[in-house]
Amino acid sequence: MADRLSPGATIGILGGGQLGRMLSVAASRLGLRCHIFEPGAAPPAEQVAEAVTTAGYDDEAALKSFAQSVDVITYEFENIPTAALDILQDLRPIRPGREALRVSQDRLTEKEFLRDLGLATAAFADITDAASLRAALAVIGTPAILKTRRFGYDGKGQVRIEDISQAEQALASLNGAPAILEGFVPFTHEVSVIAARGLDGAVACFDPGENVHRDGILRTTTVPAQLTAGQRTDAILLAGRILNALDYVGVMGVELFVTPKGLVVNEIAPRVHNSGHWTQNGCAIDQFEQHIRAIAGWPLGDGTRHADVQMENLIGDDMDRLADIASEPETAIHLYGKADVKPGRKMGHVNRIVKG
Ligand code: AMP
Repeated sequence: MADRLSPGATIGILGGGQLGRMLSVAASRLGLRCHIFEPGAAPPAEQVAEAVTTAGYDDEAALKSFAQSVDVITYEFENIPTAALDILQDLRPIRPGREALRVSQDRLTEKEFLRDLGLATAAFADITDAASLRAALAVIGTPAILKTRRFGYDGKGQVRIEDISQAEQALASLNGAPAILEGFVPFTHEVSVIAARGLDGAVACFDPGENVHRDGILRTTTVPAQLTAGQRTDAILLAGRILNALDYVGVMGVELFVTPKGLVVNEIAPRVHNSGHWTQNGCAIDQFEQHIRAIAGWPLGDGTRHADVQMENLIGDDMDRLADIASEPETAIHLYGKADVKPGRKMGHVNRIVKG
């Protein structure tokens, strides 16, 4: 296949955080090199990648020379400025492609895309001002969640509305950012599917994992998730539909709410995902290698899970427990090389092999 990268080729990664770091490690195991583009100094990926460009996404010359030095471009986060993508895509393929970014950068576009595919989502409405918020609350009811359309992550940029009297205050708290109102989904638990699609259109999904959040941040992912056989099949099939509709190449995280009436799609992330870190120790081919295989035009691994695993994020002063964790048997430690411990900062994670 002409598009297949050979060992020795270079992958360009936009973003040098922990996801970029773990992508670099996976690429290097396949004999591929990585070049990171990152505005911030001393990013976690710098310690493991061959080259780093430190420049902003508005630096046209830096973007061009970065693109010219790599064979394919991928990314570890979805909020890449459109103007930067325009410059890069003239020079090298960007995988996953622009359509996945366009859809996932904006919660409203994303919900419309999912609805048009026939998938269940929370009830939603576009909010432009106080009048549209009141009208939407009258239809959707409370509780509801008001979210910024763009740049939300880890529960940031969203506010819960328990009663219509809180509408004005909720809107003010978003400082005029374009917003979407979502009806509250009465879920029993949250799961996610990490799915991959190759350049040849083949799709492979990892077993769904069950996610527990605290303060809006993922704490643990456990496999197997509590799902019926039918729900597990539904989760995998709907992920495949999303990937095919986007003509997607790479790994995607699909977050789902489990309700008594079936699965509801919360959001999609066009990249490797925190809830897929368990695959590093639960599968022969993990999500990072799977992503590199996909964007390099290699055949996908099948994603079979060979162990029950619980992934726990190490956040902030969870690092104080490191010595105890290091003495646990069958617990794999993955640290991101971040110098400063800060509250809420993801410092690493562990994968515990669970014995039944
Ligand atoms: P998000 O940033 O959209 O993934 O939201 C962060 C978390 O807030 C989710 O993982 C859920 O726990 C909760 N959440 C978000 N949207 C809804 C919703 N429409 N109904 C119920 N819970 C939600």
